[in-house]
Amino acid sequence: MTRRQQIIEILQQNKQTAQQLANYFQTDLSEILEDLQHIEKSIKPKKLKITPAYCRKCNFMFKERSKASKPSKCPRCKSEWIEAQMFWIE
Ligand SMILES: [Zn+2]
Repeated sequence: MTRRQQIIEILQQNKQTAQQLANYFQTDLSEILEDLQHIEKSIKPKKLKITPAYCRKCNFMFKERSKASKPSKCPRCKSEWIEAQMFWIE
């Protein structure tokens, strides 16, 4: 099974951050993000879903669906306590 197939299996069962996947596969975050882009195209009609990143201090939601890892700072309260976006497949 390829890494992408394994990621698909995992994301069908659990929500994961890209960082968690990178840790699990002991690879770079950028590689996981690339995998996720390919997966999104290859799993149709299923969908790669993404929960937005949010600020754990003031609950600000990062609306943009950016594929880049996670925002480093909250634009509202400047906190760096940001919960990363999570991915799953439905
Ligand atoms: Zn905030």
